[in-house]
Amino acid sequence: MADGEEKRRQPAGPSLGRVAERLDPLAEPLGGAASDDSSDSSDSSDSSDRNDWNDWNDWRWQLRNRMRSADELAQVFPLTESERQHIDGGRAFEVGVTPYFASLCDPSDPTCPLTRQVIPQIAEQHRATYERVDPLGEDPHRVAPGLVHKYPDRVLLLVTDTCAAYCRYCTRARWVAGHEAPLGGDGLDAALAYIAAKPEIVDVLVSGGDPLLLSSARLGHILDRLAAIDHLRFIRIGTRVPVFLPMRVDAELCAALRPRRIPIYVNVHINHHRELAPLTRDALARLADGGVPLGGQTVLVAGVNDDADTLRETFYAMLSARVRPYYLFHCDPVVGTAHLRTSVDHGLGLMRALIGRCSGMAVPKYCIDLPGGGKVPLWPDYVEAADREALTVTDWRGRRWQYPNSATCEVSTGLLDDTGLLDNEEPATVVDGQGHGTPRTR
Ligand code: SF4
Repeated sequence: MADGEEKRRQPAGPSLGRVAERLDPLAEPLGGAASDDSSDSSDSSDSSDRNDWNDWNDWRWQLRNRMRSADELAQVFPLTESERQHIDGGRAFEVGVTPYFASLCDPSDPTCPLTRQVIPQIAEQHRATYERVDPLGEDPHRVAPGLVHKYPDRVLLLVTDTCAAYCRYCTRARWVAGHEAPLGGDGLDAALAYIAAKPEIVDVLVSGGDPLLLSSARLGHILDRLAAIDHLRFIRIGTRVPVFLPMRVDAELCAALRPRRIPIYVNVHINHHRELAPLTRDALARLADGGVPLGGQTVLVAGVNDDADTLRETFYAMLSARVRPYYLFHCDPVVGTAHLRTSVDHGLGLMRALIGRCSGMAVPKYCIDLPGGGKVPLWPDYVEAADREALTVTDWRGRRWQYPNSATCEVSTGLLDDTGLLDNEEPATVVDGQGHGTPRTR
């Protein structure tokens, strides 16, 4: 039987009602945020407190109660028999969903953009010819434990392989969820010694896995030691914790992320405006109030955010949550992710649909990432022709313009048509979202 014809078994069982009851992201907190006892997060499957719903706002409870097996997922998400077998035996990459993130998903909607990011599909078993295990070519550039050095003045420090939930398109699926111990001891010493010996390095990107799953004490210790390296000018952290596990952003974590001699920028991976639920917005506000500058990284994922309206709303929602959209990454060609990838052409079309139609602050850089070649920003081409005197450009509405190219040229700025420069002034107009103008009334 073809997969599409397979019957999806609807969730059933005594726990569904309780899950659904708690799966309300607008629910008031049941108690205070958990304190951090400085132990790192654990992938422990200890289920002794699986039904203690009063601990919903305890991030450790959320981690312990992640849905990881087909049986656990099937309590909330309808799965076919093939999907169940894939999750329990055939998949190549870890599965894990926090109860909190599951609460944002709509299991009754087969096109739910949040479900699609964390629930495996059979299509993961297909390998496109161009896909790679290490699509960014990081492994050949490992210079010390956890340390990748690809660019002259910056390095990537991978401090843990654990995430709160596992994105199906993860670029580092080859390594993430490998159940290795967090970077520490001799490994951390060696990585920091390498950085300290290279004065040309000014920027360390701390990533993983998710660095915010380290204990606050361990994360603070790593940041203290990095900040003590004189030639570093700033530190960046990449995380998806505010989306998957916002209750983790407690006072101790905010204190660990405080600026030192050098600033610490936190880039939050956000793909869809529905991820910015109240608990996530509160977590982002705690970080921002704690003096942490926030940027946003979004992955363009087919069926999740690959239309202009969704992206525009997502970037505006990020800005209103104090997160400046920074990168829109084309989905890297990691093995088993073709079903989650758009064409690059489509991505450029989305950028063209955004530019001019929404605030420049809401338009991130769209990038592909080359193995060993780094990020390449892609921008729709607005320059039709250029010589020493003038440029011919198109504006966001598709109209052609002449624009002076040099300070000494004698051409003027003006609209063009097929016969040449139009002798007119741009009329004052009010423009709708589609770029149609109507005369402005005075
Ligand atoms: S949070 Fe980042 S590192 Fe973790 S699974 Fe998602 S993409 Fe991969």
